[in-house]
Amino acid sequence: LGGRITRALQQMANVTIIDEKALNECLNEITRALLQSDVSFPLVKEMQTNIKKIVNLEDLAAGHNKRRIIEQAIFSELCKMLDPGKPAFAPKKAKPSIVMFVGLQGAGKTTTCTKYAYYHQKKGYKPALVCADTFRAGAFDQLKQNATKAKIPFYGSYTESDPVKIAVEGVDRFKKESCDLIIVDTSGRHKQEASLFEEMRQVAEATKPDLVIFVMDSSIGQAAFDQAQAFKQSVAVGAVIITKMDGHAKGGGALSAVAATKSPVIFIGTGEHMDEFEVFDVKPFVSRLLGMGDWSGFVDKLQEVVPKDQQPELLEKLSQGNFTLRIMYDQFQNILNMGPLNQVFSMLPGISAEMMPKGHEKESQAKIKRYMTMMDSMTNDELDSSNPKVFNESRMMRIARGSGRIVREVMEMLEEYKRLAKIWSKMKGLKIPKNGDMSAL
Ligand code: GDP
Ligand code: MG
Repeated sequence: LGGRITRALQQMANVTIIDEKALNECLNEITRALLQSDVSFPLVKEMQTNIKKIVNLEDLAAGHNKRRIIEQAIFSELCKMLDPGKPAFAPKKAKPSIVMFVGLQGAGKTTTCTKYAYYHQKKGYKPALVCADTFRAGAFDQLKQNATKAKIPFYGSYTESDPVKIAVEGVDRFKKESCDLIIVDTSGRHKQEASLFEEMRQVAEATKPDLVIFVMDSSIGQAAFDQAQAFKQSVAVGAVIITKMDGHAKGGGALSAVAATKSPVIFIGTGEHMDEFEVFDVKPFVSRLLGMGDWSGFVDKLQEVVPKDQQPELLEKLSQGNFTLRIMYDQFQNILNMGPLNQVFSMLPGISAEMMPKGHEKESQAKIKRYMTMMDSMTNDELDSSNPKVFNESRMMRIARGSGRIVREVMEMLEEYKRLAKIWSKMKGLKIPKNGDMSAL
């Protein structure tokens, strides 16, 4: 998708006279690309109309960077569509919140329930899991296994067949045990959809959830809108989680889910494991959707952050797939050199709002400096390695001691490294033009 949009914009930039016709051609090409990315047709149409309103043709003719202006209009339109205008309910500590998960069978509810619980547990909540899926054989075992692994209390039954009864019993028990985040997993089965939705309604009525989360498999494509809408019409969906974003899914379904439920996406699932779960962040997601996360956007961003003389060497290394700790160190240095963090916020590819939340620039800066201090305690071999497995316990202890930090912080820094390395590894195999002109990429 990104490639196609980039090409469409490139063509546009090459035309000397941008008239209505040229803009339309460009927008049509972008429309086709978005449709192929599973963004639903009415949404694409709406966006096209809005972009035409935003993009002022006279501005474009006056020698402005046409490509940029249109690109930015598309970007901000897509961001707007992912923002339903109100945040999702956020559970509070030490006060019981009930969160109910709904979605079709196989969407990833049970997996996501545990990820959600585990995520909040790490933040200091006391979560608990209730299995109200009495339909699928093995549903309780699956939840039990996940919960045990994450050391999260769980409730369910092998014999009781009434999901409402189990849900209520579980919620009551965990309220008494003063859990502050009680998560109810439900079934997604039923050949006849009507009976599934009736069951959802009954469980919701009996447990009175503070938040209903609709879980959607990102690979369902154009079916997303209708599916999300069907759930919204039965239960008061207040947030969306999109799963299996690690697969071949194109991600456009997220826009449909938001439009259909008028609720924000709060997390995405990026794998089967407990920690393959990310806070959803609109801008990086849209970048990815537009393919700005691939070459051209990535390189654009690098060019903004990395000093010119360092660029060819950096790209050379990245093209060989070596995102070492030293590269991370150098890029942190570049970020710090650029001055006020609020201006360079999330400029570096892969630096997410998670690492540098808006409004917390001071803390983010301190965090980066802390990471760098720890890296100062690494040996050259360690810095030049791109294999985090070399950091065994004794090495981590040495680094922690040398930098006056604790091992957990070293681990946290290495986690951040792994995350960035995963993103930057996309640069592998990149062909660098001989003349070093990266704008041609
Ligand atoms: P449920 O029927 O909605 O409860 O779905 P499950 O939680 O049982 O998940 C169905 C399948 O999808 C399982 O094999 C999960 O391991 C898998 N799954 C769930 N979330 C993700 C994800 O984010 N990425 C990948 N790759 N697989 C996932
Ligand atoms: Mg399940």
